[in-house]
Amino acid sequence: MPEKAWRLILKDGLRFYLLDPSPDVKLLFTTRRSRDNDPDHNLDVRNQLVPFRLDGSLVTMNQTHSNSVVHVDGPGEIKADGCFTTQENLALSVRVADCVPIFVWSEKRSLIGVMHAGRRGTLSKIALRFVEKIQKEGISSHRLRYSLGPSIGKCCYEVGEDVLSEFREAWPEAMGFFSRKKEGVYLDLRAANRFLLRSVGAVEGASLDLCTYCNSKRFYSHRREHGAGRNWGIIVRRSS
Ligand SMILES: [Zn+2]
Repeated sequence: MPEKAWRLILKDGLRFYLLDPSPDVKLLFTTRRSRDNDPDHNLDVRNQLVPFRLDGSLVTMNQTHSNSVVHVDGPGEIKADGCFTTQENLALSVRVADCVPIFVWSEKRSLIGVMHAGRRGTLSKIALRFVEKIQKEGISSHRLRYSLGPSIGKCCYEVGEDVLSEFREAWPEAMGFFSRKKEGVYLDLRAANRFLLRSVGAVEGASLDLCTYCNSKRFYSHRREHGAGRNWGIIVRRSS
């Protein structure tokens, strides 16, 4: 069966990306609001979720660029950069503006999860911690699928020599994810996370390979607009 692709949907005046890799699993990724110049709307990004009717079922993460992963079984806010559940109708969310949002689901339909992987989360290998944690909880990590949402691409993610050194020290194999262009050093966070996920046997589904920095009209980018809003990534498994 051909892999399903993300679709850009317009609903209730909002544009968002949708992927439904199986009949019960849905992935959403929001785009900028049309009323960004209105500060109230820009700040209250939660408004973006209203059309999705996720009230009462939303899990949000207080993200700190850690590699902490939490098993959740009810709505609310948790302090973590990754979470997963085996519950139906629980919408797990991740907020990003350049960091890599990672969606995970199991082909056996028992597990969904999200991760926030920026430079620090990637260096501390949150993707590996995620899989370790689900195994520790006695949940099968067999036939895991994953998908990356938009993030800053290798085209735009220039980093300092200090970042290169930090990675070289802690994770020498990651040198292949850096490139030099003109005077600058660029890091490919997406390739680094793909490498980690593949190393634990996860198989990539359709990813939304768009750069948040390049696509200024569509996505928020922290690097481009310091203090900008956040793009929301959501995964939910509906009971059918
Ligand atoms: Zn770019």
